[in-house]
Amino acid sequence: MKQAALDTSTMASLVTRLQNIVGDRTADVLEKSFGMTTVNELLRHYPRRYVVRGELTDISTLLADDEVTILAEIEAVKLRRANGKNLLEVIVTDGSANLSLTFFNQAWREKDLKAGRVGMFAGKVGVFKGKRQLSHPDYQLIPDGDDVDAAVAEFAGKFLPVYPATAKLPSWKIMQCMKLALDSLDELADYLPEDVAKEFNYPNLMKAFSDIHQPPDLDSAANARERLTFDEALLLQLLLGQRRNEIVKLVTKSRTPNTPVLVAAFEAKLPFKYTAGQIEVNAQIEKDLSNKYPMHRLLQGEVGSGKTVVALRAMLSVVDSSGQAALLAPTEVLAQQHFRTIKKLLGELAQAGTLQAGSIGTEVELLTGSLSTAEKKEIHAKLASGQTGIVIGTHALISDGVTFADLGLVVVDEQHRFGVEQRDALRMKAKQPPHLLVMTATPIPRTVAMTVFGDLDISTLKELPSGRVAITTHVIPVLEKPHFLNRAWARVKEEVAKGHQVYIVAPRIVNPNKKLTEREIIAAQLLGEEYLDNEQMSAVEELAPELASGELSGLKIATLHGRQSSDLKEQTMVAFAKGEIDVLVATTVIEVGVDVANASMMVIMDADRFGISQLHQLRGRVGRGSVAGLCLLVTSAQEDSQSMQRLNALAQTLDGFELARLDLEQRKEGDVLGRSQSGGRSHLRLLRVLRDENLIDSARGVALKILGVDPEINHLPELKSEVDKLKSDEAARFMDKS
Ligand code: ADP
Ligand code: MG
Repeated sequence: MKQAALDTSTMASLVTRLQNIVGDRTADVLEKSFGMTTVNELLRHYPRRYVVRGELTDISTLLADDEVTILAEIEAVKLRRANGKNLLEVIVTDGSANLSLTFFNQAWREKDLKAGRVGMFAGKVGVFKGKRQLSHPDYQLIPDGDDVDAAVAEFAGKFLPVYPATAKLPSWKIMQCMKLALDSLDELADYLPEDVAKEFNYPNLMKAFSDIHQPPDLDSAANARERLTFDEALLLQLLLGQRRNEIVKLVTKSRTPNTPVLVAAFEAKLPFKYTAGQIEVNAQIEKDLSNKYPMHRLLQGEVGSGKTVVALRAMLSVVDSSGQAALLAPTEVLAQQHFRTIKKLLGELAQAGTLQAGSIGTEVELLTGSLSTAEKKEIHAKLASGQTGIVIGTHALISDGVTFADLGLVVVDEQHRFGVEQRDALRMKAKQPPHLLVMTATPIPRTVAMTVFGDLDISTLKELPSGRVAITTHVIPVLEKPHFLNRAWARVKEEVAKGHQVYIVAPRIVNPNKKLTEREIIAAQLLGEEYLDNEQMSAVEELAPELASGELSGLKIATLHGRQSSDLKEQTMVAFAKGEIDVLVATTVIEVGVDVANASMMVIMDADRFGISQLHQLRGRVGRGSVAGLCLLVTSAQEDSQSMQRLNALAQTLDGFELARLDLEQRKEGDVLGRSQSGGRSHLRLLRVLRDENLIDSARGVALKILGVDPEINHLPELKSEVDKLKSDEAARFMDKS
């Protein structure tokens, strides 16, 4: 690789420091604003869109929801408080009409957005109180005193890139930096194999950079963008493919039971027949466990599709082959619940070591943080000696004191709540790499699975066990139809009168008793508390007493939320499961896995506060037995708002995959990849897992082909080095977090 040149007349390369290209001051701002230090990092700061000169929209013709770019002059700027936030309102005009631009909590923009300045403003037209506006538009101001036409022309040819920018570093300035970088760039070695570029008709790397930043036409820009997006997908697929190869190279004990006595005894006791899906997945897992390399499988299926039963069968067959199995749950409530369910399904098979034990069986233990030190020590000893066959627990399972005699299988429930690190920490406790089964109830669209979980094999339970009845969902719009809420409470009473039970879910535990200052909100967010803003909303500790003395008086009401002791939570869940409580007012602690077949109705307050997938999970708590489920989504969202549309979509379908798609479309990519996978997040600048389905497919095909003939990618050194970079960046992130 070339040395960074100090003399700017020398050609630059991708690793050249930005100081040498744009000067110290600008380089400093680039680093402070975007963390970039090299030419490569600069060139990978891609434009959001292009403004086509001469096609700037006329303000008087703007329609709501249009994506527009306008050239306009700032007429007035006002800063005021609204809803506890600073609202900067900027009125611009293009001579034909006025438009209002709004920025929340960005008062610093007042410094640039001065009356008289001209700029380009881009965004989606919204309507607020009958007035058209752009909220948080992208903009690019024309330098003061410049002739506008000349300035626009000088910026770039016909197509003006609009970059993610800051006040210190407006888009036009970034554009100038790009020009300097591109002009000084030597011919680049391209890591994308030539035959691949040819197959897809992609430009080489140099041309791709030049076309995306200085497009001669929009087609070239689009093609350059596609090539650079493909690069991201390909590198990720190569990384994941190599990871899979590494797993296959690992050596572990195959766990084929010599005498599957526990499995057989368990199946003989099961009060139902497996669904076709369960039979298929059982067979897949059996096959995986018989391999000499560790299973690495994701089991996805709707809430209630019978994953736990499948996982339990796998655990038992590992115990049958004289190993141990651990089930890691994300919360104490869930761990307790799994423990109860599993004890119940196993009956006397789980009572080895007690007087009730039959001739076959194993010991099942629950290990959570709330046990006393003495209790923990006792379980630690039994795990170390191998006396306990199955252990269920929370993070306490990962703690230092825990060792296993022979851990053969790790089951992780609700993967999205764990980082890869935690999952790995538990696996490290085994003498050889254990088999891994990850369960998730959030349906994962195929391409997400391929990118986020690309190193796992995937099984899906599509059907629910028969005899399950459907859930009916209705939206209760309290703004338009306040009396519907009274009907909802009447409905709760009817359900209880029929002998059923009801959940009421609220987004908060309590409301803050005063308006919080900005500082307090930030502090609360840093502490992971729930006060995201100052608005009052339904809160468990307020709603429960209100209902108890009001609409639902006479019913047995209890509360459940994260600030209660685990003893209290456990007691409440047991009492609810026994039917001693009619109505459980709770936060989302009941979101996953809580299973009470007699609960037939759920009322979700301020439902618009929750994500679609979360709501879908929540309502999966009802309609689990033979009683029809009813879910009411109470909301004060506006009639035609996006929130209301989401709730209506939810009311119309029970298809989890469809809803997961909808949910993903409304979230940012970072959240999609989430904590569950550090999978090169920062490398995915362009790739969008839903939009780029086809691209990911092709990239996966290319990756498999490359790895198929050359697993180490030795014959493509540039490509190998890119993949290695991605790998080491990821390792670095892993170290940061631990
Ligand atoms: P999940 O973990 O996918 O949410 P569970 O394994 O907890 O689902 O199963 C949900 C409920 O359905 C449990 O009460 C379980 O005993 C029951 N169940 C599981 N498999 C079947 C089946 N094949 N037929 C009938 N009921 C089943
Ligand atoms: Mg479950």
